[in-house]
Amino acid sequence: MNGAATPPVVYIAPVVTMDPQRPRAAALAVAAGRVVAVGSVDEVRATVPAGAPEHALDGVILPGLIDAHMHMQRGGLKALAYLQDGADADEYIEAMRRTFGEESWPGGEPTLEQRVAGLRRVQPLLHALGFTGVVDPAVTIEEMRGYQEAHRRGALTMRTVAMPYLEPGSAATPDIDAVIGHLEGTGVSTGFGDDVLRLGPIKIYVDGEGLRGEALLHEPWNETGYRGLQRMADDDLDRLVRFCAENGWGIGAHAVGGAAIATVTRRFSTAGAAVRERRFQLIHAYLEPRLIDLTEAARCGVVASLQPSIIWHNGRGLRERLGERAERANPVRSWIDAGAVVAFGSDGPFFAFDPRLLIWQAITRRVDGSQRPLSLDEAITVQEALAAYTIGAAYASLAEESRGMLRPGMLADWVLWSADPTTVATDELRALRVLRTEVGGRTVFSARKGGKPGVDVVGTN
Ligand SMILES: [Zn+2]
Repeated sequence: MNGAATPPVVYIAPVVTMDPQRPRAAALAVAAGRVVAVGSVDEVRATVPAGAPEHALDGVILPGLIDAHMHMQRGGLKALAYLQDGADADEYIEAMRRTFGEESWPGGEPTLEQRVAGLRRVQPLLHALGFTGVVDPAVTIEEMRGYQEAHRRGALTMRTVAMPYLEPGSAATPDIDAVIGHLEGTGVSTGFGDDVLRLGPIKIYVDGEGLRGEALLHEPWNETGYRGLQRMADDDLDRLVRFCAENGWGIGAHAVGGAAIATVTRRFSTAGAAVRERRFQLIHAYLEPRLIDLTEAARCGVVASLQPSIIWHNGRGLRERLGERAERANPVRSWIDAGAVVAFGSDGPFFAFDPRLLIWQAITRRVDGSQRPLSLDEAITVQEALAAYTIGAAYASLAEESRGMLRPGMLADWVLWSADPTTVATDELRALRVLRTEVGGRTVFSARKGGKPGVDVVGTN
């Protein structure tokens, strides 16, 4: 990383800052891993010492994307298990598509070395897609060791927020009291860590999966009257919310169906200021939520952590099960209009995680295997999708002061794209290319001219 005495470097290219106070700029200056100036070329030059190096870049600069729901360590193990040496991001995407239902690591528990090796393997592939940060949404104790060790060795180039997952009913945590005991155990809580690795809210599961017909709904799934699976008892949820609100922990609740969303919202709304401070989240939250619950969740500060990828994969199957009821699935428009902070993620590497596909899906509402989009009443704009991947996901990462936009003082996490996503035709979004990715002012990916993308430090001009 850059030392404190590093002189500033100026980059000249159109900048989409995502900063509402100054949405567009023509240059950016970076020193010691942070943005020190954003503005017109003259404005930026005026802030740096004479003779500071300048690089004119071909492309458009945006803040680094943050995937607010990416099982990165499992993605790393899958990359080790299923990917050839030297394979690039496109081949990784294809390998993950092909091995969708297969285990992360065939053959027992991976070693710590394998976990770190997996992270080393996968991070450049994700940087090549424009990512500079992830929220890993269900981190086991072994995975936490993997992240800590990777960080200790200086091998984490992806800013990572880890959401601890202590599975109620498992040997280590047989019931909710054991979960609470573990959380209380060491005195740390949500927010502990640094800009590279930080503890997020804990993860819990309140209902099942949508496509399995296990989402907890208000109306029955079918004529049998079945409404879905509730995976956590109401009084356990009550106690866990109370404990977390009083002890510095946030909660991210897997809640797919409207009745699960209502249950969680009712409990979260009792947690007061902790909801905002610790970034309580509704995760997935995509099937038949009631407007009254969206509005209440937004009012009390709950983050809506949504994944356009899930509806891309599940849209057709949900239509077959639910008919017209599936049309408004993944109601991103409604969440935004209700006033919620929306953070985009993918649930990769299991679901599709290419942000170009996900942004396009959120705008077009297209689903895999069908020409007919879901209801466009829930479509959003490119600008809103980018905000969910930057500002919203940074907020979900407890990092809205340092990430998600390009503004003086913020971390120099930025991506050079081949064109401006906010102005290209919708059909061209999926053809955008990442040319270069920087984390804290350090080049973590660059596309070599005329060849396959690599991770060499880009040549300066
Ligand atoms: Zn997930």
